[in-house]
Amino acid sequence: MLCSDCVIIGSGVAGMTAAIYLKRANIDFILLEKHAPGGQINMTNNIENYPGFKSIDGVTLAMNMFEQIQNLGVNYKYGNVLEIIDNQEYKIIRTDLEEIKCKKIIIATGRRPKELGLENERQLVGRGIRWCATCDGNLYKDKIVAVVGGGNSALEEALYLSNICRKIYLIHRRNQFRADKILQEKVKNTTNIKILYNTEVKKLLEKDNYLDGIIVESNESQTKLDVNGLFIFIGHEPETSYLKNIDIKLDKYGNIIVDKEMRTNIDGIYACGDIISKEIYQIVTATAEGAIAASTLQKEL
Ligand code: NAP
Repeated sequence: MLCSDCVIIGSGVAGMTAAIYLKRANIDFILLEKHAPGGQINMTNNIENYPGFKSIDGVTLAMNMFEQIQNLGVNYKYGNVLEIIDNQEYKIIRTDLEEIKCKKIIIATGRRPKELGLENERQLVGRGIRWCATCDGNLYKDKIVAVVGGGNSALEEALYLSNICRKIYLIHRRNQFRADKILQEKVKNTTNIKILYNTEVKKLLEKDNYLDGIIVESNESQTKLDVNGLFIFIGHEPETSYLKNIDIKLDKYGNIIVDKEMRTNIDGIYACGDIISKEIYQIVTATAEGAIAASTLQKEL
């Protein structure tokens, strides 16, 4: 069994910031990740509200942070965490590859995109159903696609796609967006984005296992839209399935409750970033929480 004083689970921006702080404090730790470093920001094409960068794409920002932790010599390992066992004095993290014994844990596993819940949605992921315009937008060059959602993500991604696709249907279930006003104005002034308010996606049509149109409903009347790509941006839900065996306190949405120093209710387990219960889910808040979690852990190790 591997042993380390601490483990950070998740190498999104919160986890990577915690890693910078722990490394500079000379603490023995492992940074565990099951996908690529960066997490959700890899799906963001243009970030304009992270200080120090007038504009930067998410993948570049993620890679900059990753390079920084590599230069510091952080022990970065692959591992899909299946379970945490809390023996009070020490904890065991069981991944799909191994077990790691440690004294303290920082949880920074973020959130995953929410699904519409339609019958064949899962089967069509990667076959017309998309979660990332930056990654998959080019597949729809000069084509017609649809985007669902009314938040910052949906509007930002629709704007990104408007430079690639012929036409974008922006489908929102209400008659008002919740996205920032500046984005709303940009979207309304983009001629190839057609906004469909008070509209819901009801059915995904398929041909040869690929998306081949969608049925939308508005005012009880249904219409078929001929799109081969449907980009879904309807929010996120926290990644907490591996926490089922420990009695960690969650809010009603499943986010981890922490105090101001990023302590959870379990001694020696801290959390930071998009997995915690909070008001503002931004890169700048996630990095700040990563720094706070690491500093609290350092004091309590
Ligand atoms: P969000 O703000 O929670 O918006 C989700 C949108 O999806 C809402 O418009 C919601 O509709 C809609 N929706 C939810 N469930 C739905 C369903 N089952 N069917 C159809 N529509 C559904 O999510 P987000 O846009 O991913 O943003 C998450 C957070 O990240 C926010 O705090 C956002 O400000 C932030 N963010 C910031 C930036 C930036 O500043 N550059 C970029 C991206 C995201 P209703 O409005 O009717 O509830």
